[in-house]
Amino acid sequence: MGTQVAGQKKGPVVTLILVILVALFFIVKQAIPKKYYYTADLKCESCGNVFQQKIAAGITFPIKCPKCENKSAYQAIKCLDCGEVFTMKPVPIAPGAPEEMMPPEMEMPKCPKCGSMNLGPVFEREKATSK
Ligand SMILES: [Zn+2]
Ligand SMILES: [Zn+2]
Repeated sequence: MGTQVAGQKKGPVVTLILVILVALFFIVKQAIPKKYYYTADLKCESCGNVFQQKIAAGITFPIKCPKCENKSAYQAIKCLDCGEVFTMKPVPIAPGAPEEMMPPEMEMPKCPKCGSMNLGPVFEREKATSK
């Protein structure tokens, strides 16, 4: 006799949870923007301005520099060994360079000053080290 009561009680609760889940799904779906933006470290080749800017994923470089307004800002990276800040634009292959000297991966950035591959963000996200 008592078993039927337990089964009847479950019905409305399950429906309510489903309604909440569907509502949440639509809220989350609307909240996510179509374009993905991220904060990038950038350096202007014209004036040397190093800055941070939110850029859309898949953007084509160079982008506009907020200081001199030239379209010459590339993504920048910092050498952790010598502190040099340099841009990561595709480097043209030097004419006459021996093939053995070519890096196997052109995507691999390297410090133009000391040749170190110990690189990191220009602007520290966390202050972990103290000098
Ligand atoms: Zn500039
Ligand atoms: Zn370096």
